[in-house]
Amino acid sequence: MRLVVLGSNGTYPEPGRPASGYLAGGDRPVWLDAGPGTLTAAMARGVVADVSALVLTHVHGDHCLDALPLFNLLRYGGVRATPLPVLAPRGVAERLAAFIGAGPGHDFHRVFDFRTVAPGDEVSAGGLRLTFGAAVHPVPAVTVRVDDGERSLAYSGDTGPGGGLVETAAGADLLLCEATGQGRREEYGYPHHLVAAEAGAAARVAGARRLLVTHVAPTLDPAVSVREAAAEYGGPVEWAAPGLEVQL
Ligand SMILES: [Zn+2]
Repeated sequence: MRLVVLGSNGTYPEPGRPASGYLAGGDRPVWLDAGPGTLTAAMARGVVADVSALVLTHVHGDHCLDALPLFNLLRYGGVRATPLPVLAPRGVAERLAAFIGAGPGHDFHRVFDFRTVAPGDEVSAGGLRLTFGAAVHPVPAVTVRVDDGERSLAYSGDTGPGGGLVETAAGADLLLCEATGQGRREEYGYPHHLVAAEAGAAARVAGARRLLVTHVAPTLDPAVSVREAAAEYGGPVEWAAPGLEVQL
């Protein structure tokens, strides 16, 4: 199991720093979230044809908008002959299709094989097992766990405290966890994202072996997020820097 960070910027991309997007697995990885900038990062690695499925954790633009140029690439670029399975919560397929005016019979529905997922669902893709959990967010959103039979990786997507993240990450070899904010929960306030200390606490309670903090707001220093998460976790913590590769 290998994790590749295509991008990890929280909420918006910056030059050289795409928004959320990751590859998880081996020769036929799943692509977790397609935030702005992640399509060109995936193309630079030559992996688009090999992806077994695309997971869009929710409809927010920093997690799914590159699915639109990805449609154009798959439709006109000759990189892939078979439909790409896209696993997403209810409403995502309809919103993306509406954005480009893709009614019934449009190539959008042939290029992508959309499947709605909800917390508790299990799906197989490219020899990997994907298990979805509940995220706490203002739109339908999921956490996801990727198992290859030997190793496991859990990804929070965007979530506030109190969802199914700990269950998703139970005993995982790696927790890739959003840490949008820093400092204390009472000062941060926003209920639909985590502060770094909460990411660390989730990793500790879940018994995850390793933690990568991600989706750090671009205005914050990721080194501070790593320190705050580590203080709660007690295990190895890194920032999910763009381009980072981790072998599990
Ligand atoms: Zn979001």
